Amino acid sequence: MTLHLETRATHIAVPELDGSRPLSVPIYQTSTFAFADPEACARALNDPGAGFAYSRYRNPTSLALEDAIAGMEGGAAAIATSSGMGAINAVLLGLLRPGDHVIAQRCLYGGTFAVFAGLAARYGIGVSYISGRNAAELADVVTAASRMLFLETIANPTVAVSDLTALIEAGHAAGLTCVVDNTFATPVLCRPIEHGADVVVHSATKYLGGHDDVTLGLIIVAHAAAHKELWKDTVELGVAADPFAAWLTIRGLKTLALRMRRHCENAARLAERLATQSSVTAVHWPGLPSHPDHEVARRLLSGFGGMLAFDLAGGREAGLEFVSRLRLAAMAPSLGGTETLVLHPASTSHRQMDAAGLKAAGISEGTVRVSVGLEHPDDLWADFEQALASADPPAPPAPPAP
Ligand code: PLP
Repeated sequence: MTLHLETRATHIAVPELDGSRPLSVPIYQTSTFAFADPEACARALNDPGAGFAYSRYRNPTSLALEDAIAGMEGGAAAIATSSGMGAINAVLLGLLRPGDHVIAQRCLYGGTFAVFAGLAARYGIGVSYISGRNAAELADVVTAASRMLFLETIANPTVAVSDLTALIEAGHAAGLTCVVDNTFATPVLCRPIEHGADVVVHSATKYLGGHDDVTLGLIIVAHAAAHKELWKDTVELGVAADPFAAWLTIRGLKTLALRMRRHCENAARLAERLATQSSVTAVHWPGLPSHPDHEVARRLLSGFGGMLAFDLAGGREAGLEFVSRLRLAAMAPSLGGTETLVLHPASTSHRQMDAAGLKAAGISEGTVRVSVGLEHPDDLWADFEQALASADPPAPPAPPAP
């Protein structure tokens, strides 16, 4: 039976006991497993499909999560890692070799951008950037050494939406392995493997976990053949997820579809209201017809997401003042949880970028990123409205007295 994503997320495989089964996946909080048969132990250490020996290799709680997310993303298998960056680094180090070349979208999560910036010096791996707006750009940067195309479904923080289908098609035509960070969209809004992606990565710390209480990453492979090598790499890198973190993420998956719907609805209300404000020069949310990627987003996503950004006319000072004046929304460097969080990217998540890099990525000194939470939209707007009052441009001088 082919199950819908919501059903897969709520029916996660659990072990059968003596005539019954737990409804919730047990937390196998063990670092190691004891064997009677030494050969079975050796098999479990060499094969990701042959039992459990040591939790850095495999753990039953993590496996339940891996199987669930692989099903939800339409992949062949998955690997749970200690964080989203753990997943990204494992994929880069596992699939690339010195002398290789990567093509990446310019607008990326700052942490990923920092890793790319260090690839050349550390490993002799070159990186070229494209805007992601036009698949033809690939031809300008591809070289004989190009091995990988790295994209984000909805890019951090400007919520740009690339035409995944066209970019992946062009990437494959050039022989590239196509990796997509699907953190902002989640499989509820987009399943990049259906658009041809070879590998999907997630910071499950965000929407998948969904409650700001877990740090975890996921790698999902489209083809079973890629799984064993990447699994060996994660084992050697030592980036396995902790079983309790895996359990919290499983719990998050069960409500993911519901939460995403509300995140999208709340973001729509906030984006529309922000767009009417005189102190706001631009609102970046792919659901707005004014967003440059609106048409692509309509085609690619089944909802426009809970992340938005807006630019304040007053620049850096106004951005910093706005985020410090909020009372309900918290200023915090994460996203995808139940509470609304805001961030000033130029001074925090994207501080590694110089002025030219920020401009190229579409980030201004006055950009504020918002992870829209699950609050009542009117309470949220009341908070934004009072914080925006300070960002209003100064009133024009009073006319001279007659
Ligand atoms: N990918 C994206 C799009 C992110 O926003 C983040 C973190 O903010 C990461 C990856 C890294 O994830 P983690 O913080 O779980 O290492």
